[in-house]
Amino acid sequence: MTPDVSALLAVQQDDLAIYALEARLAALGPRLAALEKERSAVAGALERAHRAVEAEESRHREARGRTETHRQLVERSQRQFESVTSPREAAAASTQLEQTKRMATESERDAAQVQGRVNDLRHQVADLERQLAEVESRQAEARGTLDADRVAIERELADARQKRDTSARAVPRAMLTMYDRVRARRRSASVFPLRGQSCGACDTAIPTQRRAAMAASGKLEMCEGCGVLLYAAD
Ligand SMILES: [Zn+2]
Repeated sequence: MTPDVSALLAVQQDDLAIYALEARLAALGPRLAALEKERSAVAGALERAHRAVEAEESRHREARGRTETHRQLVERSQRQFESVTSPREAAAASTQLEQTKRMATESERDAAQVQGRVNDLRHQVADLERQLAEVESRQAEARGTLDADRVAIERELADARQKRDTSARAVPRAMLTMYDRVRARRRSASVFPLRGQSCGACDTAIPTQRRAAMAASGKLEMCEGCGVLLYAAD
């Protein structure tokens, strides 16, 4: 193995370390998304319950308005009934009074029903507020851990990239460019030694002549089977 190849293998080690760190960083994403999904399920339910309360409260105001109107009708009918002067008027006024009383009773019952729904929904809102607070306090620790992990990995990554830059300076430019091209495609180990007469990655046989040339020149050759770069091991 030539010093150039040995320098390139050091760069490859650094690149593999960087890939591992990048994978760890990417794995934090789904963990954060899972926390967010859990929280937003409760927050969404709370938001819907709030809107339902508002809608029922508006219905309740309308029902109260109708009740008030009907009570006034009852009072008016009552006054009419008390001021009648003939039996015929008395019969009509009595019927009128009964009718308005029925309407007032019905609208009061409606208003009470709506009030019941408002009360139920307010309990639901209070429950969901408690649930949300519980989820958030439970998640605080997990989010803190995730954040600390992210910061630590990012710091390690910065160090690893700096180390890689330093290692790369020891590799001839043309060799590094070729390696980077293969690496960009594979995003994994890209330089392998010949294993006997074959590619160390895929076992495709390499012709004797090419192997002899590699050994003589110390140059890298691309495997026609899998596209990795091969070097002649000692
Ligand atoms: Zn191969």
